[in-house]
Amino acid sequence: MRIGIISDIHANVVALETVLKALGPVDRIWCLGDVVGYGPNPNESIATLLAQPGMEICLTGNHDWAALGKIDLNDFNPDARQAALWTREQLTPASLQFLEERPDMIVYNSEITMAHASPRQPIWEYITNTSIARANFSHFHTALCLVGHTHVPAIFVLDAQGTVREQKIIDGQTVPLRDGSRYIVNPGSVGQPRDNDPRAAYAILDLVSGAITFHHVEYDIVQTQQRMYNAGLPARLIMRLNYGW
Ligand code: ZN
Repeated sequence: MRIGIISDIHANVVALETVLKALGPVDRIWCLGDVVGYGPNPNESIATLLAQPGMEICLTGNHDWAALGKIDLNDFNPDARQAALWTREQLTPASLQFLEERPDMIVYNSEITMAHASPRQPIWEYITNTSIARANFSHFHTALCLVGHTHVPAIFVLDAQGTVREQKIIDGQTVPLRDGSRYIVNPGSVGQPRDNDPRAAYAILDLVSGAITFHHVEYDIVQTQQRMYNAGLPARLIMRLNYGW
């Protein structure tokens, strides 16, 4: 069974549609949260997800909470805060209901843990290095944990000797995940990449072989930027899409 793993769409429906096509034949789609925030098409992104065959899991993220008024916007930088306030005004009752119903963390089949940010703090923590990853391995019990939030594709490995390391990711390379080690895996961001690659990022998890493959795909960045400009969203958020930071 092939699972499309996506995260941090951030209301970039142009990138989302491109990724959904690029996934190819998948049996299920799991989304690790932050469907809205930053981007110009929050309702369209939610509707596209809901209409997608195989859409099975979608978590909530900090920007989804911000749009729902569940967190203090003073914790956000000014651009993110302005985008969150704009997003709140756009959301339809159906979109609000969808966001309200998202879980912040789940364990799938007693096999795979999923959290938007980290298993220790599902909404807030950034797993950006091996010491933060190390602290998080004791907060879940499965061999594999999927997270988003940093917008950077990553694999952290805890091996049988107790060593935690970050594994280098190469696009298109398949990484086996069932070898006695434990893994924290981040597919990167669909709608606002921060790995210095402006292309949309996603991953394919094969539940039969227990391996994951990372990918990037080009999308029409200018189209998204034009929509952001028309919506009056902050210039810095428009610019950053060019660079992937
Ligand atoms: Zn995010």
